[in-house]
Amino acid sequence: MPNITHFHQRIAKGTTVVAVTAATLLTLAVPAFFFFFGYTNLASGLRAESYFLSQNLSTIVSQNPKLWTFETSRINDMLRVWDQKHAAHDGHRMAVSWVLDADGAIVAMHGEDDQELGLSTIVARHSIFDSGRKVGTLVLRRSVSQLVNNTVLVFLVSLGCGLGLFYFLRVVPIRALTETARQVTFLATHDDLTGLPRRHLLESRLSEAIVTARQTGGLVGVMMIDLDKFKDINDGYGHHIGDAALRALAERMMAGRSRKDVLARISGDEFCLVLPALESRTYAIGVAEALLESVARPIVAGGHKLHIGTSIGVAVFPQDGATGDELMVNAGVALSKVKSGGRGTYRLFDQTMREHEEFRRMIERDMHIALENVQFVMHYQPQIDLTSGKLVGVEALVRWRHPERGFIGPAEFISVAEESGLIGPLGEWILARSCQDAAQWSGIKVSVNISPVQFREPALAAKVSRILSETTLPPRLLDLEVTEGVLISDTEKVLDIVLLLKTFGIGLSLDDFGTGFSSLRYLQKFPFDKLKIDSSFVRGINSDMKDAAIIRAAISMGRTMGLRINAEGFETEDQMDQLSAMGCDEVQGYFYSRPVPAKDIPALIDTDFPISNADRKRPKLVPVVPEVPAVSGHRS
Ligand code: C2E
Ligand code: CA
Ligand code: CA
Repeated sequence: MPNITHFHQRIAKGTTVVAVTAATLLTLAVPAFFFFFGYTNLASGLRAESYFLSQNLSTIVSQNPKLWTFETSRINDMLRVWDQKHAAHDGHRMAVSWVLDADGAIVAMHGEDDQELGLSTIVARHSIFDSGRKVGTLVLRRSVSQLVNNTVLVFLVSLGCGLGLFYFLRVVPIRALTETARQVTFLATHDDLTGLPRRHLLESRLSEAIVTARQTGGLVGVMMIDLDKFKDINDGYGHHIGDAALRALAERMMAGRSRKDVLARISGDEFCLVLPALESRTYAIGVAEALLESVARPIVAGGHKLHIGTSIGVAVFPQDGATGDELMVNAGVALSKVKSGGRGTYRLFDQTMREHEEFRRMIERDMHIALENVQFVMHYQPQIDLTSGKLVGVEALVRWRHPERGFIGPAEFISVAEESGLIGPLGEWILARSCQDAAQWSGIKVSVNISPVQFREPALAAKVSRILSETTLPPRLLDLEVTEGVLISDTEKVLDIVLLLKTFGIGLSLDDFGTGFSSLRYLQKFPFDKLKIDSSFVRGINSDMKDAAIIRAAISMGRTMGLRINAEGFETEDQMDQLSAMGCDEVQGYFYSRPVPAKDIPALIDTDFPISNADRKRPKLVPVVPEVPAVSGHRS
């Protein structure tokens, strides 16, 4: 906070100057005025008294002009009376008076000698006249030591007042200012909701910890902590409950942590924990496990019992990064691995994660260009009816022809497109392209995969409707494939969209059945037309009794609900008997065809695909453009 500190210093300096000036003025001015007025008062009083006495002496002189100098007793009396008056006033004799004749010889004297009066005195002289002729002089001398003493007292009092003034002008406001500056700095560096440090403060603590670790050869741990599906808490219970939960969780995560550890809230539901002077990587694992456990305990907020999970990514200095930035990024990479792998656990960073992350970033970066330059192509995988042996539909599967990396499969880039928001424009292009192609084939249905993210766009139904009318594809020839992931969140909203889409007359398939929740509720609630059994079960149909049982159960359940059953990943002849016997309606898989370019589909429309024992031999359906299964890039 350099600006606040600078501003604070300037204010402090200015206040000090004002306070010192005011206090000095008060301390010096009051005794100075006191002394000045006291002195002036004494001097004028002494002058008046000396005048009065000299008048009296002139009277004595005029009564005895020749020998007045011998009237010492009268003169002495006069001087004594004056002296006593001052003694009474000052508390002790502080004055001396002389009467001198014309030659300056002492006629009478009363009072202390000069030495006792001290150095500070005031003197008044008046001449004594006889018929206008000066015959002598009266000298009155008074000590001002009493005035000096009083002035010193006044000085001491005003010094006290000056110090008080300084305190009120300097100490009190600066203390208040310092406190305000401290609060401002705290608010600027700490999160209002949880009171935890913000990212900036965490970063500077992390840098300090790294400097120390470099000197001591120690370790520093960085943990990126993300609360799983916290948005659901905010959406479901309201933000005040979400806030209360965040506060409670922040407290829990800090409990038992050493004072040196820094836990910061770096975004809505993301925290970062820095462990300076970490003992070992194993210790970091212990901390991560403890955090997972502490967050997992239910939280009661606003009368609701909430269960919140966490995902944690861990990076440790120096192995996983040389700088704070690098460590935070790599802990984030480890965190994203946890998130994509199902959440609810922790992972330590390793270099392959970084490579994969870089690949993802490359994908994300190049995908923008790919969309503009239309580097995507659609391939279509035939779906064969097991009763007629005819092509009844195709599944549209997107591919990316990367100018440098060659073919990239959708498994590599669909999830990146979903995360980066590019699935919107990409999905729209896929749908338009698939409908355009399908409009060229007579009566062949096209199944288009719709990502869950596309269902969050309110305009999905409008887009589908526009594309159908632009491409003139009859809606009954379009089928949308969704996975259960679409249905789980915002079920009612998705249902509304689905029902609207169904009014257009398009079909709806549940994809990858058996891999998710396989919830009967969703099957019953959503108006599906087709159930696609996931290829992982088809693969094991002959070798794994459980796979076979699952397929059998799915088929019989689907049939009871009036759904058409599709089995995916149909690769070998052996699988055909089983699938036919179980009552599967249609299949798609490499046995019949890999996904092929649009131009190869018309040739397949009238083909009789082998379905019976007599007919059972591999069809000569080598794709004109063979699929390139080898995909560049990294899979996690
Ligand atoms: P999916 O929807 O389950 O698509 C079927 C996948 O299985 C395709 O992989 C297909 O090539 C592959 N496949 C088909 N028959 C066989 C077989 O006999 N053996 C084996 N081993 N595999 C077979 P592909 O094209 O790599 O697509 C992978 C996934 O990417 C798709 O799984 C789908 O989830 C997603 N995807 C593909 N195209 C699109 C698209 O246009 N939009 C969206 N949102 N997702 C897409
Ligand atoms: Ca699919
Ligand atoms: Ca599938």
